[in-house]
Amino acid sequence: MTVKAIGAPAADKPFEPLAITRREPGAHDVAIKIAYCGVCHSDLHMARDEWGGALYPCVPGHEIVGHVTAVGAHVTKFKVGDTVGVGCMVDSCQHCPSCEEGLEQYCTGEGSFTGTYNAPTPDAPGYTMGGYSESIVVSENFVLRVNHKPEQLAAAAPLLCAGITTWSPLRHWNAGPGKKVGIVGIGGLGHMGVKLARALGAHTVAFTTSESKREAALALGAHEVIVSKNEDEMAAHAGSFDFILNTVAASHNLDPFVALLKRDGTLTLVGAPEHPHPSPAVFNLIFSRRSIAGSLIGGIAETQEMLDFCAEHGITSDIEMIAASQIDEAYDRMLKGDVRYRFVIDSATLG
Ligand SMILES: [Zn+2]
Ligand SMILES: [Zn+2]
Repeated sequence: MTVKAIGAPAADKPFEPLAITRREPGAHDVAIKIAYCGVCHSDLHMARDEWGGALYPCVPGHEIVGHVTAVGAHVTKFKVGDTVGVGCMVDSCQHCPSCEEGLEQYCTGEGSFTGTYNAPTPDAPGYTMGGYSESIVVSENFVLRVNHKPEQLAAAAPLLCAGITTWSPLRHWNAGPGKKVGIVGIGGLGHMGVKLARALGAHTVAFTTSESKREAALALGAHEVIVSKNEDEMAAHAGSFDFILNTVAASHNLDPFVALLKRDGTLTLVGAPEHPHPSPAVFNLIFSRRSIAGSLIGGIAETQEMLDFCAEHGITSDIEMIAASQIDEAYDRMLKGDVRYRFVIDSATLG
């Protein structure tokens, strides 16, 4: 089946309309007409080949919501008309220890998990193409149910990456009542981190580099806001955090955040900087048995748990809707931090 999409023809070329091929749904497949697709910073990294290995034309997009238009003969979880989502993965080995535990993002099978775009696949053209397109065909095991109201659907799209990337570590490190949790960087990921930590019942503290973002962070649900460049403000919170989630994707000094952790506290990184952070000071870690950790998106089961929680609590992303033709401009604005807090493509504009 040929469908409309937009893609980057090369790392240094603007996006252009494309016709791409989607496979006919197999016995376990779900065909989805895409309604909206969020614009993640990873999309930009891939389209511009900043991580290396990008294949062209490149059709990014892994924050997909839409409706089921066809199901294969053996599909049991979904039917035509269901509202569904697809996140960062469309397949995995399904039998390694991680997959068996529902942690497909850490699949250790051959080739690890299959990313929603730019990952090897038997389908033409040999690598996956993502959600900047009219439709997608995905194995039912990697399709999520979305219970948000129809009018919330566009703003629910970013939950499929930004939402789960913050939810998974918040849950793993037990963010909840009685815990003091910090979120560093109030952007696409961080704004979801603040909303989710607050909804989970944690005392939620937003860290930002600029005083101008204080009000916005409070409006997202932070109990407190710390301007991280203000040393006195930072010092007042020394040794007080159970957990800090750092969403910043630019290289920076981690030590000031480690110093804010309690004994046994953890600073978890979810941003992927192009250049490494400076090596952290070891004394800060050993004297209070603190940890620096990392976390990658989330498994399918916990993504469903997050979507259900968000639907129940009315949680969505704060978005700015764009037409497909505005994607290059959106990338440029994203690089300047000029977005509150996620762009979402209205797929109806692809035609
Ligand atoms: Zn993403
Ligand atoms: Zn696996």
